[in-house]
Amino acid sequence: MCSCRCVDVPRIAELCHAKNTPICIDGTFATPINQRAIDLGADLVLHSGTKYLAGHNDVLAGAICGKSDLIAQIRAMHNVLGGTLDPHAAYLMLRGMKTLGLRVEHQNKTALEIAKRLERHPKIERVHYPGLPSHPDHHIAKEQMKGFGGVVSFEVRGDLWTTAKFVDGVRIPYIAPSLGGVETLIEQPTVISYWDQGPEKRAAYGIKDNLIRYSCGIEDIENLWDDISQSLEQI
Ligand SMILES: *Cc1c(COP(=O)(O)O)cnc(C)c1O
Repeated sequence: MCSCRCVDVPRIAELCHAKNTPICIDGTFATPINQRAIDLGADLVLHSGTKYLAGHNDVLAGAICGKSDLIAQIRAMHNVLGGTLDPHAAYLMLRGMKTLGLRVEHQNKTALEIAKRLERHPKIERVHYPGLPSHPDHHIAKEQMKGFGGVVSFEVRGDLWTTAKFVDGVRIPYIAPSLGGVETLIEQPTVISYWDQGPEKRAAYGIKDNLIRYSCGIEDIENLWDDISQSLEQI
């Protein structure tokens, strides 16, 4: 997840369907703007509405889409489990989705540009972004996605503390583990999401101490870049 790997959806769909198994794609990072997983062969697509769909970092929601026979089974379970959006959250979802296309297009552009600039920066060791030719799944992303999304992850040249100093030095993003909203968010997965798992598990997941996840919002790209640059200069 933190290195933004891409799944070859038609290939996985073929393998699953050969065994009569439905395939569900979590389209949260991709968004319906950048990837049409059902057209690519998936049976179900789920989205965290909390992220790009609502897009304003102010609601918790989710959606699952697919053929009616599969959705009917999920709906029956949903009736038992009881999760229901309150009317205001539903309103925020609808309101947010009106600008989904505009936001994602902007976020695609910003993330690609930031990824390219980071890749050339001497204080950055490595950048993980499916829109870069250096990414191991770039060929899959190019074929199966219209845009590469708003999340860039990268490794700062240095240890846990140098990386934490960089995070503390940026002024525009909020430090938070979510993504996909209009405000840029930054996090150091080792510290924020995976600390309890310990160093062995983190290593197995490929989460290095110097890894950063940066979720581009809709701020001006030059402001974001100036902010990143000034913080990198301080470490
Ligand atoms: C955040 C996230 C979820 C969970 O969504 P919530 O709305 O926070 O419950 C699921 N999948 C992915 C890929 C996510 O990023």
